[in-house]
Amino acid sequence: MVEYEGKEVILMACSSCNIKRCKHCYISYEGDRTPLELKKLANILTKRHEVYINGAEVLVNKEYFDSYKIVNQNWMLTNGFEIYKNPSILDYLKERGIEIVEMSYHFGIQDKISKINNSMLEKNIEYLKAKDMKFKLLVTINTENYNMIEKMCDKAVELGAYGIEFTNFLSQGNARNMNSTNLLSSEQISAFFDQLLIVRKKYSKEQLIIDRSGLFGKNKNNSNCHFDCIAGRDMVVVTPDDNVYPCLFLAKPGLEIGKLADGKILLNEYIENEGNLCLAQELCNNNNEEFVSKVLKLRK
Ligand code: SF4
Repeated sequence: MVEYEGKEVILMACSSCNIKRCKHCYISYEGDRTPLELKKLANILTKRHEVYINGAEVLVNKEYFDSYKIVNQNWMLTNGFEIYKNPSILDYLKERGIEIVEMSYHFGIQDKISKINNSMLEKNIEYLKAKDMKFKLLVTINTENYNMIEKMCDKAVELGAYGIEFTNFLSQGNARNMNSTNLLSSEQISAFFDQLLIVRKKYSKEQLIIDRSGLFGKNKNNSNCHFDCIAGRDMVVVTPDDNVYPCLFLAKPGLEIGKLADGKILLNEYIENEGNLCLAQELCNNNNEEFVSKVLKLRK
């Protein structure tokens, strides 16, 4: 085995979720760390890597937030449910250094895929603003809402978001039970990129940061597209059972690329990912198993 020497490590605190997972949820691993375990690992791994903490839903245990300062992380991801139920949790989070809340807000499809509705999320936005906390909206894009990008950005600005991030619908985890008509075709992905170009011209970064996840792959129509999939090369994900995976969307039994042992991340083999394609998109949406197995050197 070889020790991982790349930049980023994503520590998954838990697989638990307070709404028992949305229909489109990609989480495919099981298990929760104790807050103490998380803290110990954060202390060890942060000496060698950039460490980020993620859920499923980290607010299932507020003590996880004792580790955020250790890894220097001032932002968190959430489905928003705990904030809605208990807005005073924002004071607790602020005391632990959280300044930015990145919250799911699936324009056009929220009610279809989640138990949390738009009015609950907008209530949360009021709470966040009252506490002077910045927020970013996380939006899943499928065939129903891919052509609403400008409207979504307009609404995000109106709500006072500092940013918006689009994620391509991925057939992984619970989402595998959803109809494949949710998956964007390559023409729809191109149309998404065209709209992205328009909104990035319309809004300056001071007005709205507009991000998109790697799951859309490379924008083939834009020679300035700096797409680079760093999965397994410069980023690994460590799940609560100490398995190591190349990306959070690929944290699923059978796709292990290594193990955490004695505080060290050991890879089965060095991963040479050239980065031209999104491995998760290739495996889950394009069924390109052969390519992904080859890059990740998976043993059949
Ligand atoms: S596989 Fe690569 S490009 Fe795709 S989401 Fe993961 S890191 Fe990003």
